[in-house]
Amino acid sequence: MGGINGPALESLRDALRGPVLAPGDPGYDEARSIYNAMIDRRPAAIAGCVDVADVRTVLSFAQDTGLELAVRGGGHSGPGLCLVDDALMLDLTPMRWVDVDPQASTARVGGGSQLGDLDHAAHTFGLATPGGIVSTTGVGGLTLGGGHGHLTRRYGLTIDNLLSADVVLADGSFVTASEDDHSDLFWALRGGGGNFGVVTSFTFRLHPVDAVGLGVTVWPVDRTREVLQWYREFLPAAPEELSGFFALLTVPPAPPFPEPVHGLKVCGVVWCYTADLEGDRLEKALTVVNAPAPPVFHFAGPVPYPVLQGMFDGLMPKGLQWYWRGDFFDAVPDDAIAVHEKYGHNLPTGLSTMHLYPIDGATRRVDADDTAWAYRHATWSGVIAGIDPEPANAGLVRQWCVDYWSDLHPYSMGGGYINFLGEEESAGRVRDTFGGHYDRLAAIKSAYDPDNFFHANQNIPPATS
Ligand code: FAD
Repeated sequence: MGGINGPALESLRDALRGPVLAPGDPGYDEARSIYNAMIDRRPAAIAGCVDVADVRTVLSFAQDTGLELAVRGGGHSGPGLCLVDDALMLDLTPMRWVDVDPQASTARVGGGSQLGDLDHAAHTFGLATPGGIVSTTGVGGLTLGGGHGHLTRRYGLTIDNLLSADVVLADGSFVTASEDDHSDLFWALRGGGGNFGVVTSFTFRLHPVDAVGLGVTVWPVDRTREVLQWYREFLPAAPEELSGFFALLTVPPAPPFPEPVHGLKVCGVVWCYTADLEGDRLEKALTVVNAPAPPVFHFAGPVPYPVLQGMFDGLMPKGLQWYWRGDFFDAVPDDAIAVHEKYGHNLPTGLSTMHLYPIDGATRRVDADDTAWAYRHATWSGVIAGIDPEPANAGLVRQWCVDYWSDLHPYSMGGGYINFLGEEESAGRVRDTFGGHYDRLAAIKSAYDPDNFFHANQNIPPATS
């Protein structure tokens, strides 16, 4: 096993404001634990960075010592990209801060922040920007991969709301990338993942989002066919103010679900309504839920936006076993529905699930070539996630996910969202994900990181001319 010699470690400790933890230090095991407990690796050291100076110091230390580098944002990557055996982890966790400018409707967000930090800080001004559906997810990885969530049909992907990014590059220089400066880098950062540098802060455009309509509707899993046949027509035709992701799940034994449905295998839709909530507009918008089949449970009501964003946090705490895979879809044909029916009936554990996130609407108003994200013509981003607290069930949830994905993949558009690519997926999947944008990304990589120093990510090796 590799390591860092004592004097070198001491010099790093002296140079940084953030903490440096090595194997055997108190706090090392906690610092190396990430969201997905299936990933158990031991970095040579974990260097916490409080500011840009710390980030620059850690990069040059890794280069001087020849250590491999991995960058940790929120630590939510499924395959644990930020955690590499014997590498130096550049840990952005201390950089959790958000500055909102309510007059300009913008927020500047530290590179180690979680989505909940941004939602919390913006909500006090009745503002928000699209992010993912679990508030402990890192702003860093989510944004660099694209980012979609409840607000995407209305306000686009997270990257569609990115105004600029402060980045420390492989050569140690510090730049601000935007439409006007380093525009090629800015293009690549919007979907190309952590390939191009360490983003120390992101600046986002915010939108007036305060209370939103939350709805949850579930039907017995036996009705998956009727529900999906209805959903695939209804949602794309619905106004952009209404979003609703489709899910296969087991009803958790917790509110708002009544006891008789606890433990039931169901299909369902989680709704988010961002139009005016005056009177009974939300209820009226959702009366359609009776169309495919009678639901076994339906709830709708106004909630503050951060409540919607945090509603799955308790159900999915850090420390579970996760194995996931994703694909993009432009249609849900009957044959694909048959696959969903089969695996929905065979959910292997109580938390295992499949989601179809709508990514149409505002996402399509950005030109296909304006950002590195290559699937603006997709209607859904799908993820199959095998999840369980028990390490002994790791193989079970993994196999269910791989089998489900293998049967469903033929009905997909080819590539999958880089933030949903799993472990053991081939480099060819990354290429498929970027399609016609791949060569441009590889060229930008070769301009900004010719030695592929940043490779602990869904890697795009530099183009060789
Ligand atoms: P990390 O593991 O810290 O990082 C992931 C990758 O990004 C690594 O390669 C890392 O080096 C790089 N990186 C992170 N921060 C930076 C930075 N500041 N600068 C440079 N590189 C950086 N995605 C969605 O779009 N929508 C969702 O609704 C959604 N829901 C999710 C729910 C859960 C429970 C989980 C676990 C994930 C979800 N995701 C969702 C996927 C999520 O976007 C990815 O897992 C993402 O990579 C997490 O980013 P992170 O910073 O937390 O992860």
